[in-house]
Amino acid sequence: MSSEKIIIAIDGYSSSGKSTMARRLAKEIGYRYIDSGAMYRAVTLYAMRNSMIEADGSVITAALVEALPDIHIDFKVDGDGQLTMLNGEIVENAIRTLEVSNHVSPVAAIPAVRHALVKMQREMGKTKGIVMDGRDIGTVVFPQAEMKVFCNATPERRAERRFKELTAKGADVTYEDVLANVMERDHIDMTREESPLRCADDAVMLDNSAMTLDEQNEWLLNLYNSIIAKQK
Ligand code: C5P
Repeated sequence: MSSEKIIIAIDGYSSSGKSTMARRLAKEIGYRYIDSGAMYRAVTLYAMRNSMIEADGSVITAALVEALPDIHIDFKVDGDGQLTMLNGEIVENAIRTLEVSNHVSPVAAIPAVRHALVKMQREMGKTKGIVMDGRDIGTVVFPQAEMKVFCNATPERRAERRFKELTAKGADVTYEDVLANVMERDHIDMTREESPLRCADDAVMLDNSAMTLDEQNEWLLNLYNSIIAKQK
């Protein structure tokens, strides 16, 4: 078998199970996993903490763009997982709240924010051996990725998963709020001018609405094995 490492891009809609699959695959094949959504969430948290988001939810773009050089995002390895760091502080839990989810898509639509994060993401993929999930990984960040997957599931199924995750952490949210957020983010992510969410022409599509986690993981591992076998 070829020992050449590849780049694996997993894109898709909000809460479509990308991160769980991507993380599991990376662990199984000994690759580095990067959650690019966590990076957009960390920038959003920074903007919220520094009063760069107005009461009506609009972002004070000029202030945020000016602050970009002061925003340092990193990942700290923690057992099997990794923790998102914002300027040296672990923000893994703080970036997963519904409040951050409600503000992240407008922040991620700002071209200068995308350019800064895409640059960091490409740097992380330089040595290959990486699984990265997000919205534009196969289309913009790594158009040359050897393996591309695009995930989807019905909005109701995705909201149900996200609602379970949030309430398991003790968050006080309703299913309806979560569903509204999932649909709102889909809309903003698909209609923004800069790198809108879309399936790359050469991506393999997966609708996992009716799949268990084990079935998704097996599907992904089989796809990886078939791509590696062709590289021999
Ligand atoms: O993946 P997650 O749902 O945590 O991403 C949060 C948000 O970050 C998305 O709704 C999207 O607006 C943005 N995002 C993006 N491009 C990526 C990853 C995430 O625009 N590559």
